Amino acid sequence: GIRFEKVVKRFGRNVVLRELDFEVAPGERVTLIGPSGSGKTTILRLLMTLEKVDGGVIWIGDRPLSHMRRGDRLVPANEKHLHEMRKQVGMVFQQFNLFPNMNVLRNLTEAPMRVLGLSKDEAVERARRLLDMVGLADKIDAHPSQLSGGQQQRVAIARALAMEPKVLLLDEVTSALDPELVVGVQDLLRDIARGSDLTMLCVTHEMGFARDISDRVLMFDQGQIVEEGPPERIFEEPAEQRTRDFLQAVL
Ligand code: ATP
Repeated sequence: GIRFEKVVKRFGRNVVLRELDFEVAPGERVTLIGPSGSGKTTILRLLMTLEKVDGGVIWIGDRPLSHMRRGDRLVPANEKHLHEMRKQVGMVFQQFNLFPNMNVLRNLTEAPMRVLGLSKDEAVERARRLLDMVGLADKIDAHPSQLSGGQQQRVAIARALAMEPKVLLLDEVTSALDPELVVGVQDLLRDIARGSDLTMLCVTHEMGFARDISDRVLMFDQGQIVEEGPPERIFEEPAEQRTRDFLQAVL
């Protein structure tokens, strides 16, 4: 699971997260919704260690991510600790971010070999299994530029899973796709969500997808949780005016 404990994040004078507390249970699938600028992407970037906290502690399972243990104290994480913890977190981005100069197979085997120390045979076998799962076994030798956006995103999903992370982060994964490709990627992610014990944290503006994929929805505004609950409840009977306004604007 994931735990944010009084997490503070600021950019200059702009305090984006102010003592934010929330938890995602192991295997739970949580979606963050809320207006632009409310801090959703910042939360994912903190979990990817692309940003550092200015206060508080982030936990992955029972281990601190933003910090490390020194006796019974916590001190800010060093690069080695971050590198170690990063293995547990996979991320799929809006813009796919495949390695453009590598074919699909290399995209999937590079990090498992280099970071996890898998042998070439192990990495290739894992890549084949995942490409099969995402329906792209026949594209194993293709380069990203030869694939559609939907296919690239499937490869990106397979690449994230090839690291066998405990936590999978999804940041607006369908917003760069042509409309006719969205459903296929969403269905794939829903099947992955239901068929695994991955902890998933998802940011999306697509409420249908949020509803489909999540056990729980957190509504954010200005870096704070306005309300939370199962998707049916949040979407059908939002308790807070800010949630109602937001849903009215996006639905
Ligand atoms: P969106 O839905 O538009 O992606 P969001 O909820 O994901 O919005 P964030 O991207 O987390 O919001 O941004 C939260 C706030 O942090 C915004 O005020 C933004 O301007 C600020 N911010 C984010 N990244 C940076 C950065 N690298 N430098 C300065 N300010 C930043």
